[in-house]
Amino acid sequence: MRALNADLHCHSTVSDGLLAPAELVRRAHGNGVELLALTDHDEIGGLDEAAAAAQQLGLRFASGVEISVSWGDDQTVHIVGLGFDRNFVPLIEGLAHVRGGRDARAHRIAAELDKVGIHGAYEGALKYVGNPALISRSHFARYIVELRHAKDVKGVFDWWLAKGKPGYVAHPWASLEDALGWISGAGGIAVVAHPGRYRLSRAEMEGMLGAFKDLGGIGIEVLSGSHNEDHVRDYANMARRYGFLASRGSDFHGPGESWVDLGRLPDLPEDLTPVWTRLA
Ligand code: AMP
Ligand code: MN
Ligand code: MN
Ligand code: MN
Repeated sequence: MRALNADLHCHSTVSDGLLAPAELVRRAHGNGVELLALTDHDEIGGLDEAAAAAQQLGLRFASGVEISVSWGDDQTVHIVGLGFDRNFVPLIEGLAHVRGGRDARAHRIAAELDKVGIHGAYEGALKYVGNPALISRSHFARYIVELRHAKDVKGVFDWWLAKGKPGYVAHPWASLEDALGWISGAGGIAVVAHPGRYRLSRAEMEGMLGAFKDLGGIGIEVLSGSHNEDHVRDYANMARRYGFLASRGSDFHGPGESWVDLGRLPDLPEDLTPVWTRLA
């Protein structure tokens, strides 16, 4: 049977993407996507626009969000929530709380960048922000590229913004328990985003996945725009071992700024059960 072209991870201007929600939906449809979830960081404000655009095109759509979570000793992991009720008040309030810390963090990032000679970064980043509550490192990265301190967004992270680099600041995000509580409470399913991106030891990764499962998490992204073939093999094996459903998401942020375009990913290994078997 031909596999469904599902893309369950992408971003709009409501967080750090470059396309408005309706534009993103039109691009996904044009690329042959058959089931789309918009998963902005810590924010569900784009879902109504995206759902309406998808309905017009006859494209199947699921509500989504990518929640920033602090784990262990200053590690950040991202948890994708899918197929939830977007009017569930604890989710709405919880996300508002997570977003609430971003502005103060952005000022701290700018202060650190100022010390290494990148001045005016808060104001510079804001020029790229669609939703002020969602100022993110991606917006700083775009400004630093504008200043020609790096040739592209990826280069900015390598030199300035990744953990251990001058513009990185530690920040308390949601707890894993809260994030899963909000998603499950809203009737949604929780998925570990791009596990290949985390700098966790094998034991730390297993600790995180075990805690995620104990808290009701059921899925893991096996296919992600930021996974190489080794990651796909490793996380397919994790899905088998933990009994997780497998997800597939490009993590598209915008033309020219992403690893892969919407819907342009290989099929999941055939023996894995896709997360979309649980989406209405
Ligand atoms: P923040 O939530 O403000 O910490 O920003 C995280 C976002 O930065 C991610 O969602 C990605 O969009 C982007 N990002 C993180 N690391 C990288 C990287 N190495 N290359 C490109 N973009 C990255
Ligand atoms: Mn992002
Ligand atoms: Mn992410
Ligand atoms: Mn993402």
